[in-house]
Amino acid sequence: MREVFNFSAGPSMLPEEVLREVQADILSYGGSNMSVMEMSHRSKLYEEINAEAESLLRELMGISDNYDVIFVQGGASTQFEAVPLNLLKSGKADYIVTGNFAEKAYKEAQKFGDIAAAASSKDKNFTYIPKTDKNSFRNGIDYIHLTTNNTIFGSHTTMNNVPEADAPIVADASSNILGEVIDVNKFGVIYAGAQKNIGPAGVTVVIVRKDLQDKALPICPTMLKWSTQIKEKSLYNTPPCFSTYVAMLVFRWLKKLGGVGTIQKINELKARTLYDLIDNSSFYTNKTNPADRSIMNVPFQTPTPEFDAKFIEEAGKVGLKTLKGHRLVGGMRASIYNAVPLEGVQKLADFMKKFALQNK
Ligand SMILES: *Cc1c(COP(=O)(O)O)cnc(C)c1O
Repeated sequence: MREVFNFSAGPSMLPEEVLREVQADILSYGGSNMSVMEMSHRSKLYEEINAEAESLLRELMGISDNYDVIFVQGGASTQFEAVPLNLLKSGKADYIVTGNFAEKAYKEAQKFGDIAAAASSKDKNFTYIPKTDKNSFRNGIDYIHLTTNNTIFGSHTTMNNVPEADAPIVADASSNILGEVIDVNKFGVIYAGAQKNIGPAGVTVVIVRKDLQDKALPICPTMLKWSTQIKEKSLYNTPPCFSTYVAMLVFRWLKKLGGVGTIQKINELKARTLYDLIDNSSFYTNKTNPADRSIMNVPFQTPTPEFDAKFIEEAGKVGLKTLKGHRLVGGMRASIYNAVPLEGVQKLADFMKKFALQNK
């Protein structure tokens, strides 16, 4: 066992079991005497990895045949551009702005059409998820964009809060994909960078409903067009082979553990452990509206920036790493994705209690 628990927001902890498999395969994958890093993406061995990654993800998320799944490069941020380029057929879309990444997506889309913020929680530094209904959106829009988990501010859009609307909903699920159950059928498109809950940085998952694959703008570059990769099963050009291979191992690991429903229960317990401690303490605070709190990212503060700095330093010394909060929020942030074990969260909770007692 490694001696450290890593609470990084991304790239983040990977399951130790997966890292050991990677280590065992590093010089020779599948008896080939080649690493996956050295292998042709047209080889049979890699085609099997590519196909298994897709089928496992479909199984884990319950993705029907009505959707295609592709593994592409460029991170979630590239999809901020790809989304409007692939969908803005009539030139209008509405965004729900619930955090820093949501705002980046919203601003990027403005380069390509008539883009409006249907709702925003910027007025209160993104500490809540604004309520929306059918009337929150304009008529004739191509899509609605939302972020299912706000990594920096520690809030999430639960499945009950996904608006009922006529337009297809596009979701950035980078930081809670596979961490909690997402009802894929509520969405037209779901995308996620891998480095939080899926695997190493470098691969991005895009799930696209069949009826949304012919709406690209004429200027959409070939490499950003989803249908380019859909037609070629993600092998139009050289894919991020190694990242996809590790993602496949993570999917196997998650399936063996019982799937997304099982890990969601563990994640809820991890999150509750921290939120209960914070709520019952006069030393720690979390500013997010309780009903909207993320189960993946838990930001919290001590009474002063000096205590925050001391907390981060002392936590690091006992193996609780990467707890510094994002500069937009300050304080600390514990990212407790799938690969962060419950015992790591318990160790953090014990440390928090001790630190509060010693510094009151
Ligand atoms: C991390 C993150 C991103 C940015 O992802 P990149 O892969 O670095 O481009 C976008 N959206 C959300 C919700 C994220 O958590």
